[in-house]
Amino acid sequence: MLENTVTTFVQSKEGRKLSSRRVLFHLPERLFGYSTYSKEVLQTKLSPISVALCPTPFCVRNCLFCSNHNRNKENIAQKNEIAPKKFIRLINDLSCLDVKGVTIAGGGDPLAYKGLVIDGLILGKNLSFKIGLHTNGVLLDEDVAEKILASGNLAYVNISVVAHTSKLYKKICGYREQFYKVENNIIEAIKIKSLVKSDALVGVKILLCRENFEFFDDIFSYKMLDMRFAIYRRS
Ligand code: SF4
Repeated sequence: MLENTVTTFVQSKEGRKLSSRRVLFHLPERLFGYSTYSKEVLQTKLSPISVALCPTPFCVRNCLFCSNHNRNKENIAQKNEIAPKKFIRLINDLSCLDVKGVTIAGGGDPLAYKGLVIDGLILGKNLSFKIGLHTNGVLLDEDVAEKILASGNLAYVNISVVAHTSKLYKKICGYREQFYKVENNIIEAIKIKSLVKSDALVGVKILLCRENFEFFDDIFSYKMLDMRFAIYRRS
């Protein structure tokens, strides 16, 4: 390893100490009282600051690079999905633990988890934490975007973009028509954000893989993303 990981102990003249070189966000008080001379790695019980939930293995895309492919396939075959009642208990537990933020991601695609939007398991409630939602954008229809953005619980929605043309999208994700759907959904979500006066950040992330890395410049500057920035400039 070239660098130390978050939990790596490094040697120093004073003895063992915890390396913090790779820590993303350092909260000194979380290490208060931590003895570097103890052999116990876990010395205190602290609530997590943020938690990632992957409620469903279902997904409407079929990406070549999907690292969850086999796991999703098995879970879908066995219909393994968090039951709504358990999901509600989990959310209540996270509130009790005073968790600050919850990321909802895949797994599959969170918007394929019916309970999330249709049953309003999270978005219909007044929560003690903020939510970050990661989605491929295919199911982010206008009514869904309105529900999640108007809920007041969302810190951000992050939509993955893999291509600047429907041809490349089809090659990577399997379905040509979805390209136009995602494009339209992003544009509409940005408009809806203004309409419902949401503070949530509607953003896109470009996912690079073997099939698209050489088109990075084109993906970065393609029409839809230009429009996104234009809308941001206007609002
Ligand atoms: S959108 Fe995500 S979960 Fe769905 S196939 Fe692609 S990488 Fe896998």
